[in-house]
Amino acid sequence: MPSYVITEKCDGCKAQDKTACQYICPNDLMTLNRDIMKAYNQEPDQCWECYNCVKICPQQAIEVRGYQDFNPLGGNVIPMRGTDSIMWTIKFRNGSLKRFKFPIRTTPEGSIDPYKGLPEPDYSKIKQPGYFNYEARKQ
Ligand code: SF4
Ligand code: SF4
Repeated sequence: MPSYVITEKCDGCKAQDKTACQYICPNDLMTLNRDIMKAYNQEPDQCWECYNCVKICPQQAIEVRGYQDFNPLGGNVIPMRGTDSIMWTIKFRNGSLKRFKFPIRTTPEGSIDPYKGLPEPDYSKIKQPGYFNYEARKQ
């Protein structure tokens, strides 16, 4: 089941060019209604419930209604992301809560350069199979 925005909590990411949920959604589903500064999932049918928007929202304004076998009606699963860990709060439908905290990284946020040590792209080879890795493999 798709993500949905709790509009009372959403602050439109304070009117930045792109909201956090727009930035992170791998399927470009989240969009912002600039008239009321509230985000929404513009194509719920296409949502694959990856939870990225739920994890990144600074206001905890997004939830995913889980499938029944995973998350029966009345329960919910809320992540809270820190810089080095993530806390999952599981609310059961009888009201009881459990929390699980996991480390998520061992390097400082923003410190990874995925292209470090790789050559500059050679656009003359852009149509060759394995374009990017071709250069890297030669090294
Ligand atoms: S990330 Fe959260 S607060 Fe920001 S626009 Fe999306 S739903 Fe609203
Ligand atoms: S759960 Fe994933 S696919 Fe669905 S709107 Fe959020 S980021 Fe996009």
